[in-house]
Amino acid sequence: MILAFVEQDGGRPDRSSLEALTFARRLAMSSGDALGAVLFGSRAGDAAAALGMFGVSSAWVIEHPALDSYAPAAWGRAMTQVVTASSPVIVLAAGNDRGQEVLAYAATMAGAPMAANCVEIRADGTSAGAGAPFEVTRQRWGGSLLEDARLEGTVRFVTIAEHATPSEEAVAPSAVKVETFTPTLSDADLRVRVVARVAPEAGKISLADARVVVGGGRGVGGSEAFSELEELAGLLHGAVGVSRVVTSAGWRPHSQQVGQTGTRIAPDIYIACGISGAIQHIVGCKAAKAILVINTDREAPIMSRAAYAVIGDLHTVVPAISAEIRRRQAS
Ligand SMILES: Cc1cc2nc3c(=O)[nH]c(=O)nc-3n(C[C@H](O)[C@H](O)[C@H](O)COP(=O)(O)OP(=O)(O)OC[C@H]3O[C@@H](n4cnc5c(N)ncnc54)[C@H](O)[C@@H]3O)c2cc1C
Repeated sequence: MILAFVEQDGGRPDRSSLEALTFARRLAMSSGDALGAVLFGSRAGDAAAALGMFGVSSAWVIEHPALDSYAPAAWGRAMTQVVTASSPVIVLAAGNDRGQEVLAYAATMAGAPMAANCVEIRADGTSAGAGAPFEVTRQRWGGSLLEDARLEGTVRFVTIAEHATPSEEAVAPSAVKVETFTPTLSDADLRVRVVARVAPEAGKISLADARVVVGGGRGVGGSEAFSELEELAGLLHGAVGVSRVVTSAGWRPHSQQVGQTGTRIAPDIYIACGISGAIQHIVGCKAAKAILVINTDREAPIMSRAAYAVIGDLHTVVPAISAEIRRRQAS
């Protein structure tokens, strides 16, 4: 079996998990293994039932009164107990914060190897089988270095680099056998857990899921000038993202930071305004289908990533784009 950790919210699997699941299904198809999934939280059963579209045949829904909200060590512990019950050859998750954390705990508890941010996994051709090694290629240094590694052992843990594979439904959906699983936990497993969640402002589109992101960097010049970017993002039903300079200066919250130490985005278009294109920023936006750069400096490094560029002052260009969109919407 190939087992995937699938995050869900309100009964809907999240996008990064479905990307990792697509990766896992391809691996299962090439090795002839079955595809299983593990899900946590209330309404996990609804999300599990929907995974047949992605080729999952067995799903374990973790039920425990203390596990509705996120608790990394406890989720890792529960994962190892599902691993013991289902004997997978490999366990996969999305290479996002939770995927990395839960699998790191689970691998440590299981005494098994883990490789993070993989973009390729090569099994031995037929069924990987217990003990057969896996070769993986994984991203290091935010994707600027690719490293080959060999994973031995009866089970290995792997996260898939975010947005390395788009999510795709299976050609032939499968019936999902959903099983509830109650793990055995100690108090120590629950020392770290989420105690409250703050909902995003109503109507706001999440940065990670936005189809359009309007990014602002140091060139915006201050917190108040972000109203120009907010307006454009609103007209395009998108979200605002920023560089680290902007969050470090306190102009915008860290939740809006794009990059190696922020959110990794994959919009249809990223409109990068007053951003130079440092590697740590590019890591977070390189999965965009197209980048439109607005910058006064035609030599800025981000130009090499641009599908389109406007050389000019963003305080002139951004309001002009918004005005043109409003004019077209009105006519
Ligand atoms: C460990 C580590 C992790 C990091 N993680 C991240 C991360 O996650 N995300 C991130 O973004 N950075 C990150 N950084 C910081 C990164 O190295 C850069 O310092 C940062 O991305 C630069 O931000 P910027 O492009 O806004 O600013 P700058 O590099 O100063 O660029 C400003 C740009 O604005 C242009 N400009 C100025 N005025 C205007 C105007 N009026 N109109 C149009 N263009 C204008 C300039 O020509 C310039 O290109 C990290 C750094 C380290 C060391």
